[in-house]
Amino acid sequence: MNAQVEKVYEQVVARNRGDLEFHQAVREVLDSLVPVIEKQPQYAENGLLERLVEPERQIVFRVPWIDDAGNVQVNRGFRIEFNSALGPYKGGLRFHPSVNIGIIKFLGFEQIFKNALTGQGIGGAKGGSDFDPHGKSDAEVMRFCQSFMTELSRHIGPNTDVPAGDIGVGGREIGYLFGQYKRLRNRYDAGVLTGKGLGFGGSLARTEATGYGTVLFAQSMLGTKGDSLEGKTVAVSGSGNVAIYAVEKLQALGGKAVTISDSSGYVVDEAGIDLDLLKQVKEVERGRVADYVARRPGAKLVADGSVWDVPVDVALPCATQNELDDKDAATLLKNGCVAVSEGANMPSTPKAVEAFQAAGILYGPAKAANAGGVATSALEMEQNAGRTRWDFATAEKKLAGIMEDIHSACVETAEFYGKPGDYVLGANAAGFTRVADVMIAHGIV
Ligand code: GLU
Repeated sequence: MNAQVEKVYEQVVARNRGDLEFHQAVREVLDSLVPVIEKQPQYAENGLLERLVEPERQIVFRVPWIDDAGNVQVNRGFRIEFNSALGPYKGGLRFHPSVNIGIIKFLGFEQIFKNALTGQGIGGAKGGSDFDPHGKSDAEVMRFCQSFMTELSRHIGPNTDVPAGDIGVGGREIGYLFGQYKRLRNRYDAGVLTGKGLGFGGSLARTEATGYGTVLFAQSMLGTKGDSLEGKTVAVSGSGNVAIYAVEKLQALGGKAVTISDSSGYVVDEAGIDLDLLKQVKEVERGRVADYVARRPGAKLVADGSVWDVPVDVALPCATQNELDDKDAATLLKNGCVAVSEGANMPSTPKAVEAFQAAGILYGPAKAANAGGVATSALEMEQNAGRTRWDFATAEKKLAGIMEDIHSACVETAEFYGKPGDYVLGANAAGFTRVADVMIAHGIV
């Protein structure tokens, strides 16, 4: 218990009533910063913590669009520009029916520290809408994206705020958003969005980056114990972009992914997930995991429970927030799981994290373990600014180097504050001190 931290947290709860995921994210960061502010009190002076938890700017807007039947639909759009100490606001857009301002605040808050950990010059932000792209036609998605960008375009720019994708926002959506931005502003600002198609300023390896990075982080953690992913059985949750490329990198490193999932259930495929089929179903056909099972002999679809019920050596939560709770953590531990690396944002509940840490297994929190996506977005910005394009190997090598540096920063920072092996403290403290040093240098702003 630290009195100042409690006061900051109470203020957050009072100001952000009902934003439970945001409370959760703030609580987690503040708790792990206690040893930092006790050792270096300057980090809690001049209202630094109070400023850190208050977004610099919050934009909420109406998104009207017309569906294929000619009916007017209204969604709500958000962009939370949380912190610009290190560079232009940076972070994805999430289109999902569960999106509300609390979800976007939590994601924007996490993004500050994640982006700082990459060592690149990017601030923290997040945006999105409660629009559900599933089941919509391409034309409906396009009209929605055009309406969304009509408002968002006033607030973003290559040196101001650079959105990208997240759940429900992939290459198709980014293309429509970019087309509308260009038309409204009459500027070919390639660096205004990342995750673009390769024909208009996208970076090779950006699609793969988050999933690859999460697996590379797991590999680095295992390396500290003289171990590796070679021969390991792995549970992957989700079946979107992060999960697909986590499976791909796992296979390249000799691991075996035996699960994937979506909202209808989870797949167990003891022979190892068939990557080509998974890509065909999800990327080409925009199908469901049930479509995978229908064409894959030996794979089964389980409607109840979760992928965490399957006995594995390593767990990679790549679906969404709070998808892995204390009961799941207990099952994983009982089954001998030795490492967890988070591809999704805040997928483990606080009690699950507590259980992993109490058991002393390797636990790589999202801010560190999924930073490869945004890091490669920053590499995309770099290529756009230089009007150049790197080959796949160059981009992937830089991604791998950044993930290695993030891992080292976590390890060294945890040691510095006297808790070796604590990746939560390592990630939060390393990210925080990078932002905080610059906030101090900028004065009270
Ligand atoms: N949505 C991703 C994340 O959670 C990527 C953001 C970006 O590339 O800006 O980090």
